Amino acid sequence: MGVNKPEQASGADYYHVLGNNIMTASLDKVVNWSRSRSLWPMTFGLACCAIEMMATGAARFDLDRMGVLFRASPRQADVIIIAGTVTHKMLPVIETVYEQMPEPKYVIAMGACASSGGVFDTYSVLQGIDQALPVDVYIPGCPPRPEGLLYGLMKLQEKIMRERNSFGAAIGAGKVIPG
Ligand code: SF4
Repeated sequence: MGVNKPEQASGADYYHVLGNNIMTASLDKVVNWSRSRSLWPMTFGLACCAIEMMATGAARFDLDRMGVLFRASPRQADVIIIAGTVTHKMLPVIETVYEQMPEPKYVIAMGACASSGGVFDTYSVLQGIDQALPVDVYIPGCPPRPEGLLYGLMKLQEKIMRERNSFGAAIGAGKVIPG
């Protein structure tokens, strides 16, 4: 056996580690579990709701413990939290950032403005980001508290755990069936 060739683990080795225990899981569940526990949101805020989003990421609420780490590049993000009022002027920027995010990607509408335009029923404000992007989770409130965003992220985790064909899609066989 060459020096650089790793040794093959034998059945006896696995028995030594696992004893009489057996672990089973579907590959979809493993993929879903790893995706849902490592959500990386795009660092992106639009208005007052973004302050609550920032508070959620700070020490008191500590999003890191959920594996949620804000990223400064859409290339490294799989969630975009629409936190604030979406003006028609800003919409093309949001769409560009969303398109730059790799699949699979998710959208959270945080607060009344992002969900429905909120109190701004005016010509300049989009009446809900779902008119432009596929929203996975809506969080009510003006603004929602950090606990609301934490709950929304947990709901997104549950939704990802229900997805099917996650492993197949990852290896190029078909598409993910949404949860
Ligand atoms: S929902 Fe309320 S707090 Fe959030 S961006 Fe709109 S006005 Fe501001």
